[in-house]
Amino acid sequence: MARYTGPSCRLCRAEQKKLFLKGIRCKSDKCAMNRKRGAPGKDIKARTGKKTEYCVQLREKQKIRRMYNMLEKQFRLFFDRALRMPGVTGDNLIGLLESRLDNVVYRMRLATSRAQARQLVGHGHVLVNSRRVNIPSYQVRPGDTVEIKEASRKLVAILDSLSEVSKSGVVPWVTMDVDVQKGTYVSRPRRDEVVDLTDLKEQLVVEFYSK
Ligand code: SF4
Repeated sequence: MARYTGPSCRLCRAEQKKLFLKGIRCKSDKCAMNRKRGAPGKDIKARTGKKTEYCVQLREKQKIRRMYNMLEKQFRLFFDRALRMPGVTGDNLIGLLESRLDNVVYRMRLATSRAQARQLVGHGHVLVNSRRVNIPSYQVRPGDTVEIKEASRKLVAILDSLSEVSKSGVVPWVTMDVDVQKGTYVSRPRRDEVVDLTDLKEQLVVEFYSK
């Protein structure tokens, strides 16, 4: 299960955008972006000049890929699948990414970040339709239930994360019953429903891979 193991905040600094990779820290004053830390590396000037069309497309693709905590090969497979589906490719891509099991666990607030959700899934704490699934990229289908297995329900990380449900709820396309740590993936979200990603331009990803 390959994954990026370098410093997460460096990725945000490279994109000069908060990618919310570290859970609670991202909302605190400790966030490197809140502290207005610049782009990483020595040759900052090389990054601040006029960007080519290719560069703009590449950066947008990297942003989305990193936000969903994926490596290039798997992200490309998701794009190819979105391309084969009827409808708008960019919308399909966001729909497929949102249907990943690690993302659904994150959206249900069983984890504070997608990386933590990935770990919960990988370590076998998550059941889909009452069966253990330990594949983070598993595609959850509308109507599927996702829950934490009984033996893991007292994990502090999960309880801490679930405390957010009472404060700010969950996204409209999932439900969550905090008492039994079980939720339902109601439907694949429409693009306009994913309001926290409104500023992402997935069309640039389509253009990037269409060259
Ligand atoms: Fe990005 Fe979160 Fe680090 Fe802030 S704390 S720079 S949002 S990973």
